[in-house]
Amino acid sequence: MALIVQKFGGTSVGSTERIKHVAQRVARWHARGHQVVVVPSAMAGETNRLIALAKEITPSPDPRELDVIASTGEQVTIALLAIALHGEGIQAKSFTGPQVGVLTDSTFTKARILKINQEKIRKSLSDGSVVVVAGFQGADEEGNITTLGRGGSDTSAVALAAALKADECQIYTDVDGVYTSDPRVVPEARKLDTITFEEMLEMASLGSKVLQIRSVEFAGKYKVKLRVLSSFEEDSEGTLITIEDKKKMEQPVISGIAFNRDEAKLTVLGVPDRPGTASQILGPVAEANIDVDMIIQNIGHDGTTDFSFTVNRSDYSKALKILQEVKDKIGARDVVGNPTICKVSAVGVGMRSHPGVASRMFAALGKEGINLAMISTSEIKISVVIDEKCLELAVRTLHKAFGLEKPQKSKLSLTGRDETDIITPS
Ligand code: ADP
Ligand code: ASP
Ligand code: MG
Repeated sequence: MALIVQKFGGTSVGSTERIKHVAQRVARWHARGHQVVVVPSAMAGETNRLIALAKEITPSPDPRELDVIASTGEQVTIALLAIALHGEGIQAKSFTGPQVGVLTDSTFTKARILKINQEKIRKSLSDGSVVVVAGFQGADEEGNITTLGRGGSDTSAVALAAALKADECQIYTDVDGVYTSDPRVVPEARKLDTITFEEMLEMASLGSKVLQIRSVEFAGKYKVKLRVLSSFEEDSEGTLITIEDKKKMEQPVISGIAFNRDEAKLTVLGVPDRPGTASQILGPVAEANIDVDMIIQNIGHDGTTDFSFTVNRSDYSKALKILQEVKDKIGARDVVGNPTICKVSAVGVGMRSHPGVASRMFAALGKEGINLAMISTSEIKISVVIDEKCLELAVRTLHKAFGLEKPQKSKLSLTGRDETDIITPS
């Protein structure tokens, strides 16, 4: 008997029919004696609808109230799923995040989980119930409702799995695993049997929304066995997120191509070239809770330099306004921006031991006439910022340039893990 946490995404619970289907699936695991905690998202499109309602009243609603509204999507699905499980003859109880003691900090709309009180869940599980916990939400120390950022139900599921020391955390979604790139953009993308935590972290942080980045961080930190699977196909083993075993591994150079459409670029021109200006520019941006991604400062000319960085597109106007004020304070010449850029990245732990990846990448993009506005690299990734019009072309070009459509050496056997490692309902 195992303890399994199963998360079902928005499409998987997108209608009452689909919720019944999820209930049947959960029922099969339960019938075989496994203890099951289910974490549903809101029905597909519901969180967007709720946030849009608030924005009909004002373009920037109070984040605390936004969380009160956004969290209701999951409150609906937990009850519907519990009712559907009752229909399958199964004892089931639904709980909101705050009800099961998901304690978070107070950063409304992107709160972090600090602690989970497992008592209530354990008690219901030992009573023989399936426990249905709302994803995406918690409460801070004062009891204010918080949400964990878009896609946050993944993190709820992994955090619950970590707290309960579950045998496996299964993320059921509308694709049957993690692919070499988003299969909606690259039809030839290939499903990976395994991917290392490190690579998955990069893929998630670079825009592959199949898993929220924090869920991967949590899983890595607390050694949660994490698997991505299809909610529609029954037989697929999905993708297992594994710990890299350096001794046994011979990694492919590139494992995947990730992209993020929601980027914007800002440049402060003619910044006085003296110590402290970078922090004078980025300090107020950080104070406004805006995440900065790529940062580039050009070589100085005549005592001044240009300073560029990227932010999420939703923060563009706010950042631009801040920079206008900063410009006058530090005596810079001008501020310009471009909210229609995107970022495309090649990710692979094998990059560490294979030189020449960057030049191959730039050559392939250059051949297609794609201009690179910014470049950044780390040990296991190379990212470029390009015009959003070129996104699809760039992603497909790189996928092909690195031969990702072709089956590569099975990483599964190389990690020493066995196919039979999967926990099955039977
Ligand atoms: P859910 O609602 O189940 O949480 P999401 O829409 O958040 O689902 O995530 C699943 C989607 O992630 C897929 O439909 C796919 O378009 C997208 N995706 C992006 N990159 C990848 C990738 N590398 N592998 C698989 N899916 C990806
Ligand atoms: N419902 C939330 C969202 O749409 C959380 C999730 O689906 O994971 O972002
Ligand atoms: Mg998601």
